[in-house]
Amino acid sequence: MTTALITGGAGFIGSNLADALLLEGREVHVVDDLSNGQRIRVPDAAAFHEIDIRDATALAAAVAEARPATIFHLAAQADVRKALEDPGHDAAVNVIGTINVLEAARAAGARVVFASTGGAGYGEYEELPIPTPETCETRPMSHYGMSKMAGEGYCHLYGRLYGVPVTVLRLGNVYGPRQDPHGEAGVVAIFCGRILDGQRPRIFGDGLQTRDYVYVGDVVRAFLAAEAGEPGETVNVGCGAEVSVLDLLEGLGYDGEPEFAPPRQGELQRSALDPAKAGRLYGWSARTSLRDGLAATRESVIAARRSPGSRPPGAFATT
Ligand code: NAD
Repeated sequence: MTTALITGGAGFIGSNLADALLLEGREVHVVDDLSNGQRIRVPDAAAFHEIDIRDATALAAAVAEARPATIFHLAAQADVRKALEDPGHDAAVNVIGTINVLEAARAAGARVVFASTGGAGYGEYEELPIPTPETCETRPMSHYGMSKMAGEGYCHLYGRLYGVPVTVLRLGNVYGPRQDPHGEAGVVAIFCGRILDGQRPRIFGDGLQTRDYVYVGDVVRAFLAAEAGEPGETVNVGCGAEVSVLDLLEGLGYDGEPEFAPPRQGELQRSALDPAKAGRLYGWSARTSLRDGLAATRESVIAARRSPGSRPPGAFATT
């Protein structure tokens, strides 16, 4: 079977992808600088390279050594608030880092599947249809959204200029086992933790703001489908449904009284992605109901607390 390299493979989505690839019998290499990822999330069966993707030389050497057929590029500065505080760092990782990945892929003859963002990319404007198809203009409302859109642009540039086979996946708000509180859908992990600790969940704003919550197991299947599909596409990966913060609490079985705090500046009010193209191209759709996905997330938080020193369970059987 062919080799796959995952940048950001010590992170939430990347480590679940690593498990799924290993289950398929693939050789897996992980590149991660552990700035947000954890070494313990990387499966023993995967080769680990502790590298910052801003270091073009080290990255090129690791890719040349691994000789992957596919690079799944997930490493990113993925925290919207951190990007606001330090936009230069955000761009260095998400733009320059992505260029370094594309250069390494070009040299190695690898294809690239890039983890981009839906909601933070489209932004929010009056004419924007919800759920949003890929044909809509992107108008990011954050530095993070902007740097991811630049990354997308470079991916397609390498396709046009050098024939590097690239696919861009615009993810909804991904939740599930191994999630940490800092990502785009961090609220699910935060709520699980607070409810388990007997604390009241805190809602910023009125709780009616919506997102497209998509289960990490379904997202990983989309990465595998995209790898097998025709390159050159930009494809939404979401459920197509708006779920509010209050719906999330209900889905987690919380029937107490949440705390309400003032809304966060710059937060989108509504977001959902039209997944029709993923269905058309890959036969992909999200299979996991919100209720089942939330139950699996809650179980994984409980399991991780029970054995803090061991590898936290993911969405796939681990090796
Ligand atoms: P994550 O933070 O858990 O994973 C990202 C990984 O990248 C981490 O392990 C981190 O250590 C690593 N990393 C960061 N900077 C690096 C660098 N300079 N060099 C090497 N490694 C570096 O985040 P995630 O939620 O798993 O997200 C994975 C990807 O999906 C990201 O590209 C993110 O922008 C994108 N995405 C995530 C969501 C979501 O809801 N989680 C939504 C849309 C897009």
